[in-house]
Amino acid sequence: MTDTNTQKETLGFQTEVSKLLHLMIHSLYSNPEIFLRELISNASDAADKLRFEALTHPEWLSEDSELKIWLDVDKEAKTITLRDNGIGMSRQEVIDNLGTIARSGTSEFVGNLTGDQKKDAQLIGQFGVGFYSSFVVAQKVEVFTRRAGAPASEGVKWESEGEGAFSVEATDKAERGTTIVLHLRPTQEEFADEWRLKTIIHKYAEHIAIPVCMPVAAEPADDDESVVAEQGKTYETINKAAALWTRPRNDISDEEYQGFYKHIAHDYDNPLAWNHNKVEGKLEYTSLLFAPKRAPQDLYQREGVRGLKLYVQRVFIMDDAEQFLPMYLRFIKGIVDSNDLPLNVSRELLQSGKIIDSMKTALTRRSLDMLTTMAETKPEDYAICWSQFGSVLKEGVAEDQANQDKVLKLLRFTSTHSGDAVESVTLADYVGRMKEGQDKIYYLTAENFNAASQSPHLEVFRKKGVEVLLLTDRLDEWLMTHLTEFEGKKFQHIAKGDLDLGELNTEEDKKAEEQLQESSQPLVERLQKVLVDKVQAVKATQRLTDSPACLVRNQYDLGAALRQMLEASGQKLPETKPTLEVNPHHPLMNRLSQTADDGRFESLALIVLDQATLAEGGALADPAAYVKRLNSLLMELA
Ligand code: ADP
Ligand code: MG
Repeated sequence: MTDTNTQKETLGFQTEVSKLLHLMIHSLYSNPEIFLRELISNASDAADKLRFEALTHPEWLSEDSELKIWLDVDKEAKTITLRDNGIGMSRQEVIDNLGTIARSGTSEFVGNLTGDQKKDAQLIGQFGVGFYSSFVVAQKVEVFTRRAGAPASEGVKWESEGEGAFSVEATDKAERGTTIVLHLRPTQEEFADEWRLKTIIHKYAEHIAIPVCMPVAAEPADDDESVVAEQGKTYETINKAAALWTRPRNDISDEEYQGFYKHIAHDYDNPLAWNHNKVEGKLEYTSLLFAPKRAPQDLYQREGVRGLKLYVQRVFIMDDAEQFLPMYLRFIKGIVDSNDLPLNVSRELLQSGKIIDSMKTALTRRSLDMLTTMAETKPEDYAICWSQFGSVLKEGVAEDQANQDKVLKLLRFTSTHSGDAVESVTLADYVGRMKEGQDKIYYLTAENFNAASQSPHLEVFRKKGVEVLLLTDRLDEWLMTHLTEFEGKKFQHIAKGDLDLGELNTEEDKKAEEQLQESSQPLVERLQKVLVDKVQAVKATQRLTDSPACLVRNQYDLGAALRQMLEASGQKLPETKPTLEVNPHHPLMNRLSQTADDGRFESLALIVLDQATLAEGGALADPAAYVKRLNSLLMELA
């Protein structure tokens, strides 16, 4: 851990840092005070880390055991100094932590920046602004730091004006920890003011678990007391300085919960909802869970960061403990503080065990309850949550059989009833609107909302006033392979299998059906003959009112999206042919029936088949042939 290099070196920031710094200074000008939140948050993390490492190095804490943060202002020099006695940093850690951005996805993040200040400010928010936000108010930043356990001679001084480069050099530092000196920009001198800083601490750092201290306001001026005041400086604690989750719920304001969330999640936005719970009895732990407002960049990456912050008896143990929530709740943030786990618990130890398992079961249920309550009491918030995390929640239908009912109630769909592309229909809504005699939940999958809502398959359902769910998410076909029932009602894809309207079919309908089959038999047989290679069968149908024909799949055929997904993963799938269902009442079918010329009949039949493919958003096997056939028809018109 010793750093032998004592030379002063000047190093360049990682390219992403330079870009970020530039952008931050321009994006955060309207809210510069958050720099203090970020620096206090880091100092508090440093105290957490020290406490954790002191479990194996108790001597580190024994000499200076009261972990605190001190904030001083020098009005003359226009500086703010923030000091902590936390873990500190070695020379290499300084270079790594304050010269690069280690977090994954940085380059993608910088690549996503638009140049539009408003949008970029939001992106920066998602990313967590961190230490570099000090340059929003400071034209120069100095950091003096020494790692716990290292001798005074191994102090490090870091300095930068935030323009591409920083320097590091060795320095003596008597106390462990980190001191940060901000030299305020002339435009930001208002921050060299105790009252202003106290207000900011109350606003953003009330929940920080360790004391944030400032000098007690000076006595009324005596002639010559400046020296005395300097030496005898006494400090008072400004914040509440108790771990937020240990305090009673009704003592904690919304602002404090929100501030705490921003601290642990490195988020800039407020959370949509939270759930604070203390469990006593056989197991003892406190949990504080949050539903964020925005999906992180790495939500769909396998190695994406997820999990809760783990404390054991108030001591910070690790970030991103993944074992307490299932994969499909990976977007939930929060902390869990256990009284049952040993202080030396490791990631390996966390892999399994009774305690972990029962905590996971309970925390999963808590998270789902938090989302359910949000959906019931704040539907607009839940709509945001669904738009960000809906696709992830759907994974829960397959992943978590035990909670499937709860997950199903959280799903949102578009339907023929809602009439727009916003997913807002619940399964309960649907069931509540089911028609007399309807015993199935009808749905249709398609590429997008437009294709779904225009599908010919909807015609008979429109006629009967029966609602159909329109599923257009890439995941939906996969989802539906795991969904068989909701509240005892089976799901039925309306473009798969025979049309089965159950009791919705009246006696009249049945009679009409018989007649239809009989009268259309010659046409059906003739079509079947010319299309034999292309379709599994041709049938007359009542599902259509306005369209001449549509394609129907087997009940267990894969849909287009699922097919693509499996093929992309290298699976070879057998070709399956659809059934062509035709509407004998359609004028075009009449026309076909009356076409005596066989060649002409075949040409028309092929056009009808291709159009049915196009109508469901499919691609033609031989588009050129289709165009040729259609053109020769058009020529006849002329
Ligand atoms: P984050 O806090 O999200 O990791 P920051 O930009 O705020 O990102 O900080 C970068 C890193 O610098 C921290 O992860 C930490 O390792 C280090 N650091 C910052 N401030 C301190 C401090 N006061 N004491 C020790 N390490 C610090
Ligand atoms: Mg930070």
